[in-house]
Parts: sequence; C-alpha cells; structure tokens
Amino acid sequence: MNQHRTTLHLPHGQIRLPAFLPDATLGVVRNVDSTDLEQCGVEAVVMNTFHLMQRPGSSTITSLGGLHNMTGWPHPIITDSGGFQAYSLIRQNAKFGSINDKGITFLPEGSDRKFHLTPEKSIQLQLSYGADIVVCLDDCTHVDNSFETQQESVKRTNEWAERCKDEFQRLIQQKRLLQERKPLLFAVIQGGGYHELRKQCAEALLEIGFDGFGFGGWPLDSKGQLLTDIITYTRELVPPELPMHALGIGHPANVVECARMGYHIFDSAMPTRDARHSRLYVFTTPDSLPAPASTEKWFSYLYVNDDKAIKNDEPVSRSCDCLCCSRYSVAYLHHLFKIKDSLFLRLATIHNLRFMAQLIERLRSEQYVQQGLPADRQSR
Ligand SMILES: [Zn+2]
Repeated sequence: MNQHRTTLHLPHGQIRLPAFLPDATLGVVRNVDSTDLEQCGVEAVVMNTFHLMQRPGSSTITSLGGLHNMTGWPHPIITDSGGFQAYSLIRQNAKFGSINDKGITFLPEGSDRKFHLTPEKSIQLQLSYGADIVVCLDDCTHVDNSFETQQESVKRTNEWAERCKDEFQRLIQQKRLLQERKPLLFAVIQGGGYHELRKQCAEALLEIGFDGFGFGGWPLDSKGQLLTDIITYTRELVPPELPMHALGIGHPANVVECARMGYHIFDSAMPTRDARHSRLYVFTTPDSLPAPASTEKWFSYLYVNDDKAIKNDEPVSRSCDCLCCSRYSVAYLHHLFKIKDSLFLRLATIHNLRFMAQLIERLRSEQYVQQGLPADRQSR
C-alpha cells in the first residue's frame, strides 16, 4: 500500500488513515476539552473558517498565535473553507447573502456586519489560523439543484480553486515555510448528481494539482440516504493514493461504506450532537465489522433518556474503554440527563467519540479498506 495513503504527515503531527474528525466548529468540540479528545483517541479536528472569522474574529485568533495556541489543541486541524456555509445559509435563504464569481457575501442573522469571503481571503484566513490542511473555497450545491446550477457551481469551483492555489503558493513563498511546516491544500469536487460534471470538475482540479480532494455537495438524498452511486464514481475519478475527504459524513454506517470505497477522512457533528440528545452508539459485534454484502446489524443506539435506563446498573458498553463506560452506569447517566447536569453532556460526548475512534480502528485493520473493494463491489 502507498505510504502516503496510510498516514498524512502534517505540521502539527500525523493523521493515520482512515480518520474520523469531530467538528470543533467554533474552536471547541462542545462539552469536552483537548485532553478528553486525546483520551478518546481523536487525532485531529475540523474547525470552521467562516464561523471563526465572526467569533472571535480573525485578528483575535492571529494575535493569540493561531488556532492551536488559542484552543490548547496541539494536534492537526483541518479548516473548512466556508463554502458549505454559503450553501447552508445563502442557498437556503437569499436574505443571508449572495454568491457571485468574485466570492461570497454573508449577512448572518442577528449581525449588523457583512462578511466577505473570496478564494484569496479564505486561504489567507486559514493560513493565519495555522491550519494543517487548508481547503479551497468552493461553490457548494444540493444534489436536487438543476443541471444549470451544478454547471455554474463546477465552473466557479474550478476557477476559485485556481485562485486559491495561486494565493496559497504566494503566501507559502512569502512566509518562507519549510516543507515540514507547510500545510496541505485540498480542493473540493462539485457537480451534484451528474457524472459528466463531477468528471469535468475532478479533471480540472487534478490538472491544477492538489494534495488531496473532498467530495463536495450535500452527500444525502432527500430521504437521508447516502448518494452511493455518485460518491463511488467521484472517488474513482481521483488516483487512489491521493487522500480523499468525505465532507460532512459521520453516520457510522456511512463512514464504513465510504471508507470501503476508498475515502480516508470523515468529519461530522452527528456523533457529538447525538450524544447531547442522549443517543449513544454501541457495537453489537465483538471485534470486526461484517463483510460489505452482509445485512448483519453491527451497532445499535442506547437512549439514555429512556425509562429502561432508570435502574440499569450496566455501563453503556462493556467493550468500551472510555471514561464514561469504565466508571459510570447507564442509570447514573440517565439521572444526570434528567437533572440537566453538564456532566452528562461531557460523558455522553466522550463515549460517542470513543465509539467513532474504535470504529476507525476496526476499519484500519480490514482488507476492504486497505486494498479497496473487490471489483464486483465497486461498480454497484
Ligand atoms: Zn464508552
């Protein structure tokens, strides 16, 4: 196997692949601290360029020495470009801003300030934050958008990626960053559900040249099902040794499916959000994951707020080694949840993050991820 594919070597350490990164949108994975994350086996986190430029603001982050120093997290950080926020805010409601070829203007609700994000600005911010993986600004769409919208998004995404690469190289030269201090630059492939547009986008981005790529656009259909066909197709457009990030994918079953397609990096707020809503993940098979074609159920949900939890003296999972499971019972968690104590949020978050780390350990050891799927499973 190609060495580059198993581990990413970054200025603040390494990320072993595949990897699940919790979302620390505003510079914190809610309810846990950096040492909790380390204990859970988290190797890197994703932070959000757009939200951080609003709060605490880029000049504050820079004066505090960047995100690593500000947040007490000495390990790798991926910053996303802000492109997804343009999609989730502006495409859903035009009163929150506008997108044109120059860039994106945000008018966030409750703010009297406008925020401009251009491809160049996005790169400047991410580098000033000290990110380990910098992501090009992209024009994100939903799979249900029209062909014309997708076509426009691909054209803009490619033009912006070129501008991002130019700005990235200019700043790297200006800062005279040595190779080992240089972040990686990823580009995002758009094109919605159209094979020809995904291909056009990927080919143009490969021509410009990046260290890795992301699957862009909302990855689920309107029923919440993974867009398996187009996600598989898009992975095959990029040489397998180049790392690929399945942006926003974090449901355990979807992580497994995409890892077996050859995706390496996953990030989502889902496991931590589920934890806060008392939905905890539990493995139902002892060590390994079922083979791709199997319908065997390998994990289940434990609802701590359920009445069944009131007198349950067992840990959430006997096979879990997290702080929550090694010390506390489901009944105690239920009690903490009912009295709304913040300790519940911390313990539940720790458990789901440890589950995701254990899931990744299972994936790292399996042949479908190390060698890619057998050919007959690739062309579903
Ligand atoms: Zn646990």
